[in-house]
Amino acid sequence: MRGRVFDLQRCCVNDGPGLRTTVFLAGCPLRCAWCHNPEAFAGDTARWVEAEEVLDEVLADRDFFEATGGGLTVSGGEPLLQPAFVKEVLTRARAEGLHTCVQTSGAVPRDALLAIVGLADLVQFDLKHPDALTHERLTGRRNDDVLANAAFVAAHAKQVEFRVPVVPGFTDDGLEGTAAFVRGLGAHALHLLPYQRTYLDKYRRLGLGARCATVEPAAPSRLASLASRVEAAGVHAVLVC
Ligand code: SF4
Repeated sequence: MRGRVFDLQRCCVNDGPGLRTTVFLAGCPLRCAWCHNPEAFAGDTARWVEAEEVLDEVLADRDFFEATGGGLTVSGGEPLLQPAFVKEVLTRARAEGLHTCVQTSGAVPRDALLAIVGLADLVQFDLKHPDALTHERLTGRRNDDVLANAAFVAAHAKQVEFRVPVVPGFTDDGLEGTAAFVRGLGAHALHLLPYQRTYLDKYRRLGLGARCATVEPAAPSRLASLASRVEAAGVHAVLVC
């Protein structure tokens, strides 16, 4: 079983518990204005890789995983555009006793979620904005299927973390609505991913224009204020730094 992979990073710290190896799969149905991984859908950086080859690389860090409670994370792009490959990788990882995490935008067919939901110890589900038209303006697609899939994952995943990128002037006006939405699904926390500018070099290398090129990261005081508003909406705000 082969999949299209554009990167594999070891010792990642924000992709689930402990130290993790994160595999980045090519392709994405969205075009988020702030996307940090444009190589997922632009350029020619992806290669076909066997699931067995992925596991061989991941298992090289088994000692780190055991020492830190880490494991394997499958990311993208949108990894669930390749559900059969993700299923194969997760099945092999679980057979090796690894903790498994899948990151998704939720903008995928329900069948793709069904294929993996029982194999992932953790699903990190990214919500961009609660308003359908704003979501379309920011990502190129409305969010009806995303919200429905978020409810499905909340009901069926072993563990789910809802996350939202905090992009000043783009997503920050939607945080309270997103907090209220995940609270309605029974979630107790919303993870806030502050916008950073370090990804802009990728756009220069790929010869692409970045829609958020002039956006500055939120100051710590602003992040604290946004976190307070999330808490006021009824869920714990977890700042991911
Ligand atoms: S869902 Fe993720 S990978 Fe896809 S465009 Fe948005 S930020 Fe980029």
